[in-house]
Parts: sequence; structure tokens; C-alpha cells
Amino acid sequence: MSARNFIQSIRDNFKRKEPLSDEVVEGFLRVLEKVRTEDVTCEEVFTQLDEYVEKEVDGKDTSRLMPLLREHLDMCSDCFDEYKALLKVIEKSSEKKL
Ligand SMILES: [Zn+2]
Repeated sequence: MSARNFIQSIRDNFKRKEPLSDEVVEGFLRVLEKVRTEDVTCEEVFTQLDEYVEKEVDGKDTSRLMPLLREHLDMCSDCFDEYKALLKVIEKSSEKKL
């Protein structure tokens, strides 16, 4: 899968506004339970966000590599906006390379 297709598939996922299935909710709860004690702050997310987006554009499994960040982005709209902006920038620079 090319980086561009990968980003497109992420975009499509974000666009979807379907209610979460029980399975997805259960998955979130499991993650929450696991990381409850080591919550990330927005500040920590901002410092690692570029690394996160680069990994994602590379097609790496960020939900496994950086699960705390992934989880924070799912819940924090401030960081999510920042993430989307960064993704756009990195997407543009990787398009030049392709
Ligand atoms: Zn945040």
C-alpha cells in the first residue's frame, strides 16, 4: 500500500461517523484499563506527534507502537486537530518524494 493510499484510508476512517460497535468499545475499555496509570498529557503528545505521524505515513502500526498517543488522539480534539494538520504537511512532503 502506498503512503498516499494509506493516508486516504485513514481519512476515510475518520470521516465515518457510525456509532461504535460493542467490539470497538470493549477494545477501548481494555486499552483504557491497561494505560490508566500512565496517562499522557497533551504536552507529551505534541512532542511525539511528528514521530507518530511519520510512522503512520510509513505504514507502521501506530496503534501498537504508540498506543498511548493513538488513544489520546481518539479522545482529545485539540491534539487530533494538530495531528491532522501535521499529517497534511507530511503527506505533502512525501508526495514530492513519490
Ligand atoms: Zn490532547
